[in-house]
Amino acid sequence: MLWKRPAVISYEEAIELVFDFTPKLDKKDLELPEARSYALAENIISKVDVGPFRNSSKDGFAVFSEQLRNCSPDNPLSLPITATFFAGEVCSDNQPKGSAVKVMTGAPVPSVYDCVVKLEDTSYGTRQVTFSQPVTPGTNIRAAGEDIVRGQTLYFKGHRIEPWDIGILASIGLKVVPVFEKPSALVVCTGNELVEPGEPLTPGQIYNSNKFTIASMIGGFCENLETPATVHDTVESLTAALNSNHQVIVTTGGVSAGERDLVVKAAEAGGWETVFHKVAIKPGKPVYFARKKNQLLFGLPGNPLSAAITCAVFVVPALKKMAGYQKFRLQPIPASLSDSPHRESDGTLIWPGKIWHREKGLAASFSSKESSAALSALLESDGIIFQKNPKSGRKNSPEIEVVTWHQVFNQ
Ligand code: AMP
Ligand code: MG
Repeated sequence: MLWKRPAVISYEEAIELVFDFTPKLDKKDLELPEARSYALAENIISKVDVGPFRNSSKDGFAVFSEQLRNCSPDNPLSLPITATFFAGEVCSDNQPKGSAVKVMTGAPVPSVYDCVVKLEDTSYGTRQVTFSQPVTPGTNIRAAGEDIVRGQTLYFKGHRIEPWDIGILASIGLKVVPVFEKPSALVVCTGNELVEPGEPLTPGQIYNSNKFTIASMIGGFCENLETPATVHDTVESLTAALNSNHQVIVTTGGVSAGERDLVVKAAEAGGWETVFHKVAIKPGKPVYFARKKNQLLFGLPGNPLSAAITCAVFVVPALKKMAGYQKFRLQPIPASLSDSPHRESDGTLIWPGKIWHREKGLAASFSSKESSAALSALLESDGIIFQKNPKSGRKNSPEIEVVTWHQVFNQ
């Protein structure tokens, strides 16, 4: 039987296949501080008003504004101070007419008063306060529910919890929130030539940078992340390394056409079902994707830039989908190519570059390094530039789209 070479598919087809096989994970409850960067598993509707009662936004005197209507420096008005309320105290609404009460920021304001005059705008002693200008009703008073009203939908399921969300959720009194679990992941680097940073290099060896790039790129989307020692290029050791319970396994190296590129062979020997091998992108063409029940295997190429880019455009979106994020797809934005020459490539060029705002939308320029081995192409990059089928595009202004690193990692 003739060996059937797997077809090279487009990035669009490939990423849809990845999403098709990406399972969603279970829900769990997490205490607030730990919930950061998880996706909410339910809509969140506030059961309370924030703030819960009418209160003062300044240290000052609560008065009835009508009384100060004719006030001026030449015609000041003095009123007796009948009480002082601090934040955390309960106020009595039963205050004598024609009086003022001293209130501190956050203190409740008795309902008979409709404004608070800042301490600095009055002159006062212990018993009496003098006003010398009129005030508009409502000044320096925060209504109940001014921040958040009871019944307000604050978040939809799938919202990624940002640092400020932790505070907002606390402000409505929640201690635990329902979130989706994040996947557990394993990063396996292959290559007999690899040495860990910190160790001396002997001739022919290079430092293992992929382990650090990939672990740093995906760590925030994983529940636990294991990065074992480098695996040697033999089918047996690779098959053993891929025999793991982690929900996602990411390998680097060993997916090209060389004699020591054995990841695909080892995966299939270990019961993994190949979904695709080779995608029409540059860098990263040899990228491999397989699954075993609900487990996913991403075989990223070894070249450090290829590994980083394929991690960003395949692995990160898949992890986001697993972790329940509403926004898991990359959303490339049209931009115009500036300052850098058009580049030839089959399929989609996915290269790092600078991205900036111009009057008419976004502009971008490719990083000058053109090698898929050069991780330094990422230096000073703001994101990735997608240039589709450059050969068929107009040479002078090929169509490009961009995705910022912010969108890849922080949304
Ligand atoms: P491979 O895909 O295994 O053929 O590797 C392609 C190139 O990437 C080779 O030059 C490797 O030495 C290099 N490479 C592979 N893995 C890593 C790694 N973990 N860190 C840095 N470079 C690597
Ligand atoms: Mg290798």
